[in-house]
Amino acid sequence: MKVPLLDLKQQYQTIKTEILQEINKIFESQYFILGPNVAKLEHKIAAYSSTEFAVGVSSGTDALLISLMAAGIGPGDLVITTPYTFFATAGSIVRTGAKPLFADIDLETYNISVEKIAELLTSMSVENRSRVKAVIPVHLYGQCVEMDKLRTIADKYELIIIEDAAQAIGAEYKGQRAGSMGDFGCFSFFPSKNLGAFGDGGIVTTKSSDLNEKLRDIRVHGSRPKYFHKLIGGNFRLDAIQASVVMVKLKYLDEWTRKRQKNAAFYRSLFAQIDLKDVVTLPKELENRHIYNQFVICLREKRDQLKEFLAAQGIGCEIYYPVPLHLQECFSNLGYKRGDFPNSEYAADHTLALPIYPELEKKQLEYVVDQINAFYGRQEG
Ligand SMILES: *Cc1c(COP(=O)(O)O)cnc(C)c1O
Repeated sequence: MKVPLLDLKQQYQTIKTEILQEINKIFESQYFILGPNVAKLEHKIAAYSSTEFAVGVSSGTDALLISLMAAGIGPGDLVITTPYTFFATAGSIVRTGAKPLFADIDLETYNISVEKIAELLTSMSVENRSRVKAVIPVHLYGQCVEMDKLRTIADKYELIIIEDAAQAIGAEYKGQRAGSMGDFGCFSFFPSKNLGAFGDGGIVTTKSSDLNEKLRDIRVHGSRPKYFHKLIGGNFRLDAIQASVVMVKLKYLDEWTRKRQKNAAFYRSLFAQIDLKDVVTLPKELENRHIYNQFVICLREKRDQLKEFLAAQGIGCEIYYPVPLHLQECFSNLGYKRGDFPNSEYAADHTLALPIYPELEKKQLEYVVDQINAFYGRQEG
């Protein structure tokens, strides 16, 4: 049996007619950059994320970069984030000239530990602490960081919060939507995200009309009015074609999310029926609106061999992420070393993402768990 990690072709078949109709309208209009479709999507995403404004941008990475720029982050500044995330989170900080400061994750959720952030801040000199301007919590795999506790710390130290919600559209923490809890919310429409475009795209949410205006200026090289530049921005524009694809998909997002949640619950019931509790740890669900961009399990031993074995059985799985950011070659000048963030390092060495996409059938999930059971059963025997 084949169980790919993700199969977007299956999803496309269910929405093909609508998508082609919408894309055709764009072709007929020959209006490709920003424009009415992007504006329409911005209103829809702002509403979906329970916030005021949304600004369509060229990617999730650019959503982070443009937020940092709008927050005025630059050389000399420090920005706190997690070392266990996709590269773009820390890469964007460095691109502004600022420096990332890492705080370790919580091993139950793989999200940045708010306690570790507090410890980091109290351990710093007053002078260094005054250089910390922002914090980027990443809602990893589709589950939100403990934002109420983070808000308390951010208020105390006057930090801007930039949510990296690239994997978490529609996720909630204590009833509040991802992207509505910080000063900025950054989303990605990369095809493998829960709400993916047919290419690159992203969006930034904010409650502040000032920041909304600033983001819109920076998106078009700081041009306002046209050809008059008060500030230096970039080309961070979203395509109308991508916006129209995302708008079609948005109508189905809640249904797809329910299916992902159902798959996660089914995995849990399957793992409960077998005796692998000493080897396999399932992801902890803190809140009921975890949107499961990934279902990531932790293996006490033989993770790499299991991945290879599953691949041979036709099952796709992936390691998110094999090298935590503090150990990346390009960040060696930040001065971190192995052992600095033991939870992130442990997660990098022991976790594996299993297929969780909405269109999976029960028998495919059963097959995945059966094969994991067979692998560890055979190892012990
Ligand atoms: C995907 C992702 C990004 C970057 O989004 P792109 O659209 O690929 O640029 C940033 N942060 C996280 C956590 C992501 O998963």
